[in-house]
Amino acid sequence: MKRDLSDRGMGTKSLWAGEEGSSARGATQVPIVQSIAFTYEDMDEWQEVALGHREGHIYSRNSNPTFAALEEKVRVLEGAGAATCFASGMGAISNTIFSLVRHGERIVSIKDTYGGTNQMFREFLPSIGIEVTLCDTADGDQIESEISRGCRMVYLETPTNPTLKVVDIERMAEAAHRVGAIVVTDNTFATPINQRPLKLGSDIVLHSASKFLGGHGDALGGIACGPEDLIHKVFHYREITGAALDPFAAYLLIRGLKTLQIRVERQNESALRIARHLEENPTVAQVYYPGLESHPQHEIARRQMPGGYGGVMSFALKGNFETVKTFLARLRFAHRAANLGAVETTVGSPATTSHVEVSKEDRAAMGIPDSLVRYSTGIEDVDDLIADLEQAISALPGL
Ligand code: PLP
Repeated sequence: MKRDLSDRGMGTKSLWAGEEGSSARGATQVPIVQSIAFTYEDMDEWQEVALGHREGHIYSRNSNPTFAALEEKVRVLEGAGAATCFASGMGAISNTIFSLVRHGERIVSIKDTYGGTNQMFREFLPSIGIEVTLCDTADGDQIESEISRGCRMVYLETPTNPTLKVVDIERMAEAAHRVGAIVVTDNTFATPINQRPLKLGSDIVLHSASKFLGGHGDALGGIACGPEDLIHKVFHYREITGAALDPFAAYLLIRGLKTLQIRVERQNESALRIARHLEENPTVAQVYYPGLESHPQHEIARRQMPGGYGGVMSFALKGNFETVKTFLARLRFAHRAANLGAVETTVGSPATTSHVEVSKEDRAAMGIPDSLVRYSTGIEDVDDLIADLEQAISALPGL
């Protein structure tokens, strides 16, 4: 049954989008079609599908019914014309950039993108003749003026990993469109529940689906959503680079997405309470969370994140990396792991997680102190999380 989901809420969309037509023999859930190729008895039909004149699947590096259902779900949630998924978030990021930017062209971005993205900008793209200008993330005037000099792509990520800086998507999109550039926004931290970059003028929205979209820390994936013409170029590139998503991972991500709204709402609420609580603690030097009135870009966040401020925060302890080690070892209800966005709380130090590829000196230049803890709030009872943080802080030397 085809359902019109255009005026439905995000919870209903998460559950029902992409589900029609994918059931096998009346199954209520999208099946895992663990098959590399699809067989045809009629050669004409096979050719029509191969030429794209008729719907169907040929080979799972190109398309597959399970990951097609995932693409449809996220497409609807982001309000896009098309979506294409990848084996990981970095697959989505690299394929999007390589398919849309050529040798001799220029990208304007920010210094605080995710570590892997940052490495692409500093190492891989310049080596093939793509110029990348990385602006101070908190300096909207600088970003706007670099965009105005002309570029092919404006690449944004907001809030950023790990210091939760916020970039004004609408303002940068207006500047980018004045010079004919494509705007790409990594929406991994916010999710479509909290922030809708396409509505704010971004052309493409990207996700590491491994994080909040899947939400259970059990499947890697990535996705790019946007208008059909641009996403077709990205899809075509992925067909050839082979960064396709495995159907089993797609199934896990679909299953996770069904509870996206209730998970994210709970994580928003808990994170705000925890951030406010930590802000009052004398052992915490600084809390980085866009929902706090003290956050330098709180006003932008309030405008562009109507759903909430997300589950991730970071905080600097008074101390050094040794302090962080003692603190992390004491936590009882948090995985010490290089992940975020899962139902269980996950903590780490950027030096061992998001920015492990970045040198200590570069981290310092990016304003990431050694005493920083990244805290991704799970869906545990928030009072238990606060008590856990308090007991870990009380064990720190000098208290
Ligand atoms: N974008 C952001 C904001 C991330 O935090 C990450 C990973 O942590 C990525 C992209 C890369 O995603 P993946 O690990 O799925 O390749």
